Amino acid sequence: MSWTKITIDQSKCGNATGGIDPRNCGECLKICDPAIFIRHQTLNVKPTNRYDPEFWQVTAVWLDLCTKCGKCAKVCPQKAITIT
Ligand code: SF4
Ligand code: SF4
Repeated sequence: MSWTKITIDQSKCGNATGGIDPRNCGECLKICDPAIFIRHQTLNVKPTNRYDPEFWQVTAVWLDLCTKCGKCAKVCPQKAITIT
């Protein structure tokens, strides 16, 4: 059995360049029953920017727990989540 792949388009959510700051949304985190997402500071930013509040993103971590219900993609206001 292959794991679900969850892709989050960060041009639409997060990394400061996206259309939305994930700290102001978080709908995917709230609706996912197995809670596979985390919201965290972007890891590869320059040290001077590490605590810049603009640099946040959402990552799907526990993919083996995903039930493929599709609720996260449906609820995302940015249509940033793709499930394959
Ligand atoms: S498809 Fe369902 S279980 Fe999987 S990440 Fe989205 S909300 Fe969670
Ligand atoms: S629901 Fe979409 S826009 Fe909102 S935090 Fe999740 S990925 Fe970002």
